[in-house]
Amino acid sequence: MVPKPLKLGIIGDPLEHSLSPILHSFLMEQVGILGEYKCYPTKPDKLDKTLEEIKNAGLTGLNVTIPYKISILDWLDNTTEEVKLIRAVNTIAIGDKQLLGHNTDITGFLNSLPDEIKSTLPHRPALVLGAGGAARAIMAALIKCHVPVVTLAVRNPEKAAETINLGRKLIRLYNVPTGLGVTDLASLKNMNNYHIVINTTPIGMPSNKQSENKESKKESPVSLSQLKTLPEEAYVYDAVYGPDNTTLTHHCEELKIPAQDGLSMLIHQGAAALELWSGQVISEEIISAAHEHLRNHIRSVACS
Ligand code: NAP
Repeated sequence: MVPKPLKLGIIGDPLEHSLSPILHSFLMEQVGILGEYKCYPTKPDKLDKTLEEIKNAGLTGLNVTIPYKISILDWLDNTTEEVKLIRAVNTIAIGDKQLLGHNTDITGFLNSLPDEIKSTLPHRPALVLGAGGAARAIMAALIKCHVPVVTLAVRNPEKAAETINLGRKLIRLYNVPTGLGVTDLASLKNMNNYHIVINTTPIGMPSNKQSENKESKKESPVSLSQLKTLPEEAYVYDAVYGPDNTTLTHHCEELKIPAQDGLSMLIHQGAAALELWSGQVISEEIISAAHEHLRNHIRSVACS
């Protein structure tokens, strides 16, 4: 029997610069999955209407991106146990008009790390910039890997309180010795206690409204002088991605601090979502090819 083409999509705002349609079209073609992947740009007051439209259109799967990874929970019929713990969703499986929330950002982040960084996580106190949906998934990944300390650097410590509470529950559940803390991003001067720094704020994201002029593309969540305070063994991870370097990874290159952007995480979380929707396994070779394909795509867009 010929399998039914998959109807897939992504919901978020803004979506103009989303690479997910290009990623999923590439992965589907490589794996031999028939189907389509559409963008559903949605303002908060239209979330209800768009989700109804998506259910009626017979979609099998939906990705969720900024700013809905947390607020979408109110519209879901059920979630995985992992999502119940972290209260953040990036992938929805749809069946019989029922929405089931998953989170593939956790494995997406872990699978995107170089082996030598992943294996040393139990010795790396971590600084996570931001406390939204991506921060929750990354915090969960870090706790699972027994990172000794996770500190969230945020602009609004009150809003970080829920993320910290979720982190405490995870620590109890996994019975790990991770410590948790919150600090003010604006007054962060010295980073010498952190051996891994992960940006999960949208600062530096090409579609960030403030980034639409040339000057603001130089935005970075932490400055060169802050980065200079990092210890020798530090590793920097920017969940944001760009044509070559983000401003943050560019600063790191200047200072010879090993760093990576979020392209590999995007591909790994997307591949995990497609595996879930299609039941097909996506090989490491296809993931590497997707990396090259997307990097070339971003570079060609940046040049045009
Ligand atoms: P989110 O839930 O809206 O969270 C964003 C977080 O960043 C919040 O804590 C927010 O603080 C903070 N923030 C926003 N603007 C800020 C600013 N100018 N200064 C300081 N803090 C700021 O978004 P998300 O879903 O976590 O996504 C965040 C970023 O990660 C996006 O750029 C997204 O593309 C990227 N991401 C990448 C991947 C990947 O696969 N590479 C996966 C997930 C996310 P408030 O609470 O105060 O607003």
